[in-house]
Amino acid sequence: MLNIGIVGNPNSGKTTLFNNITGSTAHVGNWPGVTVDKKEGIYKRGKEKILVTDLPGNYSLSPYTDEEVITRNFILHSKPDCIINIVDVTNLERNLYLTTQIMELGVPMVLAVNMMDLAERENIKISVSNLEKALGIRAVEICALKGSGTKELMEVAIEEAGKKREPKSLLKLTKLKGLIDLVESRLEEIGISSPLFHAIKLIEGDEIEVKDHPKLYEEIQEISKEYQSEAFIDDNEGMIADARYQAIEKISKDIFIQKKEKLDIIKQSSKRDKIFTHKIFGIPIFLIIMFLVFHVTFSENFLFLGGLFGDDFVTLSGTSFEGLFGEGGINSPGAMLLTLIETLGELFMGWFGGVLENAGAASWLVGFLVDGVFAGLFAVLSFLPQILILYFFLSILEDTGYMARIVFLLDRLFKKMGLSGRALIPMVMGFGCSIPAIMNTRTLNSREEKLATIRVIPFFSCGAKLPILTAIAGAIVMHFGIGNADLITFGMYILGIVTAFIAIVIMSKTTLKGMDSPFIMELPPYRSIKFSSLMIHLWDKMKHFIKKAFTVILASTIVIWAISHFSFGWRFLEDSQLNESILGKFGQLVQPLFTPLGFGSQLNQYGWVFAVAIVTGLIAKENVVATFGTLAAAIIAGFSGDEEGVSSVIQIIGATGITVPALISFIAFNMLTIPCFAAVASAKGELTRKDFNWTILFWFVTSYLVSTIVYVVGTWWWAIFIVLAILAAVIAIIEINYRKYKKNKVVMAA
Ligand code: GDP
Ligand code: MG
Repeated sequence: MLNIGIVGNPNSGKTTLFNNITGSTAHVGNWPGVTVDKKEGIYKRGKEKILVTDLPGNYSLSPYTDEEVITRNFILHSKPDCIINIVDVTNLERNLYLTTQIMELGVPMVLAVNMMDLAERENIKISVSNLEKALGIRAVEICALKGSGTKELMEVAIEEAGKKREPKSLLKLTKLKGLIDLVESRLEEIGISSPLFHAIKLIEGDEIEVKDHPKLYEEIQEISKEYQSEAFIDDNEGMIADARYQAIEKISKDIFIQKKEKLDIIKQSSKRDKIFTHKIFGIPIFLIIMFLVFHVTFSENFLFLGGLFGDDFVTLSGTSFEGLFGEGGINSPGAMLLTLIETLGELFMGWFGGVLENAGAASWLVGFLVDGVFAGLFAVLSFLPQILILYFFLSILEDTGYMARIVFLLDRLFKKMGLSGRALIPMVMGFGCSIPAIMNTRTLNSREEKLATIRVIPFFSCGAKLPILTAIAGAIVMHFGIGNADLITFGMYILGIVTAFIAIVIMSKTTLKGMDSPFIMELPPYRSIKFSSLMIHLWDKMKHFIKKAFTVILASTIVIWAISHFSFGWRFLEDSQLNESILGKFGQLVQPLFTPLGFGSQLNQYGWVFAVAIVTGLIAKENVVATFGTLAAAIIAGFSGDEEGVSSVIQIIGATGITVPALISFIAFNMLTIPCFAAVASAKGELTRKDFNWTILFWFVTSYLVSTIVYVVGTWWWAIFIVLAILAAVIAIIEINYRKYKKNKVVMAA
């Protein structure tokens, strides 16, 4: 089978092309670094099958990060039959930088000139034949997004795959020609294969090459001096880079028939950037946009009518319109759908329970299916619409390029706090799911940075934690009649983010001192959104969620029901004997641990439910709500098909007497503590054993501490003074030690 690899700069459209030709649905994101591992797919050409590999983005073949190594190894060691080098035509010169390096390797390759739709809009015209002549490789204009030109591209790639191609270096167009020729012939003499590639690497001062040919390298350095002084450069690597750009500039005169004019799009882009990345207003604008997103998704007072016209503006409680309207106003689309699904769930369970009873099923079986399995499952599934609506908006913000700007904006702000900007990308990805986010930390350079980032990723609350937030926020509003569901949810997200940044600042000054890595964030252009790819994205999310619901969560629910209905002697228990069950006993055992957090021993007889929910949440965070669903059905003795989502939490609040600060503290603990099993496993894969162990401890301690503070201050507001005093003391101690450390360093350096 032919083996073709797609290589190119980050954000040049590799994954889009890959999806187009293989029919896959790999995640495409409008920012650099989304693909961190290679991905394989099949291109079908009639009966013939061709293996296509999507690779992480590269700016050059000198590997600086793990993901660049993947691509480099692929080209050098997997011996692909042909490489498709994809370039973004709107940024052609910079993209050709990588092209000129691959050319030096003599592997068969084709140039895919991508984003031709944008070229048209921006009035860029290139001459493909001149480009082919200048580089000595075939080129095809494509638009990966629309799929135009991709078939032709594959034909050319297959054609080229059979041919031999001589290595060629554009550097020979520059003053370095003499030097390169010399080194190349020397290496050829001693029988090195691919002498051109190795010659250039040696001139660059590549560590491995220099070790192999130390003498020759000395000679090179002598000869390079002249060039370097002319170009005001003082190292060989810089010299080669400089020469590359010179060569590209030289050929680009023939390639462009019409160069990018500073037309509307670019002007608009920079005009928009003046507002969106404004030094002072950028962050507030971001917060307002995010709040609106949350408002549309979660609010029960969507148009603020309740506030304007008084609380009994539309009081339709008890009517069939109840679901459309909240207590004080009109529900948001998200909240309406939530109610709709809950109502359907209730109808279904009522109907199903009736059918079973009529058929003469044993009462424990009815209990098991209706109260155990379905109550748990519906509790989770009822949040699906809100999750999808939230991701719909987040995907729009991501695809248009707005999120990348926020990363850029925060980069400026947080660099001052010892944070690097690139680390923010996996953090933002964490809002979706911690697992790909943790994998994305491979793009980071240093161990310290990677470790710090992995530790805070779970604080960027993922989709699975959303039901916890929504269910409890909804229950607080409905049971205690205070606050707004959207404000509470939004506030909890902010709490997670703030905790993450405080944790990073503390780590960078203590255990992970000296964490700092150079980072240049590139701003992707604003792009219009393709509706179909947005839908694919949401469809994937939905499939993932439903699959999880019917596997891990379903299994957990069954287990929870079983151990909550059997005693240690495997005696079947009635609902009212919940406290005697295996689960009950276990819950009562761990319950005291959570007393400082507000949901421990101070609660009434069923208070251990919260402790149990924390534990089941370690398997999957959706389990927290599913556990409430299943147990609420048992606590409220007798059949009632009314326990999913928000309502089950309300039942449990009533039964346990938990307070509002304790509920908030419970959310905070779930958000900040050890993430789900799968995320823990991927963190384990990325870290050394020791770093991993400390990370688990870090998660537990942080969540315990923050939740305790939330509960204590929420219950006794004056405790804030004590907390602040302790915090101030801790910060002062860290500061003083840090100053001392810095001073010592200066002394040592002097
Ligand atoms: P990768 O990082 O190289 O894998 O790039 P992606 O495939 O993730 O694409 C980066 C961004 O460019 C995404 O927002 C794509 O929708 C967009 N994109 C890719 N190809 C084209 C194209 O031909 N035209 C336009 N306008 N946008 C494109
Ligand atoms: Mg990609």
